[in-house]
Amino acid sequence: MKFKLDPSRPPDEDDYYLGVALAVRRKANCTGNRVAAVIVKNKRVIATGYNGVPEDMPNCLDGGCLRCSNPGGQFKSGTRYDLCICVHAEQNALLTAARFGISVEGAHLYTTMQPCFGCAKEILQAKIEKVFYLHPWVPTDVDPVMDAAMKAEYAKIIGKLKVKKLDFDDPVATWAVTTMRQAALASDKNPDKKTPPKTAKKKVAKKKSRTSPR
Ligand SMILES: [Zn+2]
Ligand SMILES: [Zn+2]
Repeated sequence: MKFKLDPSRPPDEDDYYLGVALAVRRKANCTGNRVAAVIVKNKRVIATGYNGVPEDMPNCLDGGCLRCSNPGGQFKSGTRYDLCICVHAEQNALLTAARFGISVEGAHLYTTMQPCFGCAKEILQAKIEKVFYLHPWVPTDVDPVMDAAMKAEYAKIIGKLKVKKLDFDDPVATWAVTTMRQAALASDKNPDKKTPPKTAKKKVAKKKSRTSPR
């Protein structure tokens, strides 16, 4: 069953909690993926989080994070995350629970994106019992040796968690997921997708006839 904003039908558990996460995600403030997470215990939402810089700092979308704003493209894709000051949605949800003294042991976590390497470790160590996610997490462009090692280590961590992918529609997936946003932008720029103006068609035809005798 897919997530639908249908007020005539009461939502089931996954629909309800993921719906809350999708509402929280509107606050996400990062130039990269836009993610939100909710922690649920005994059928109650006990904490929420979305990704962005720590409180009372200039927002990531306003250039607050040097790694994310990447001036002059100085940080290669997939590198220097140790410089990034953005706090991930799952981290923010766990930290909110810590800040207000709420135990998360045995709780469920709903996130709009599969936890990354760092978040997966923290979720495991916080003793979250089960993780539900919407979009897969795709690490970008790490070098091949690192990539293989990271996949193996990630599998070790994820193997210790109960993880389930949810099959719901995301009406703003291209806004939320960097890889989908980049793919959408690339296809917009793709000249094959646009009908060329009449003058351009004539030029192409001329060029063809000129080069055909060769
Ligand atoms: Zn950021
Ligand atoms: Zn993360």
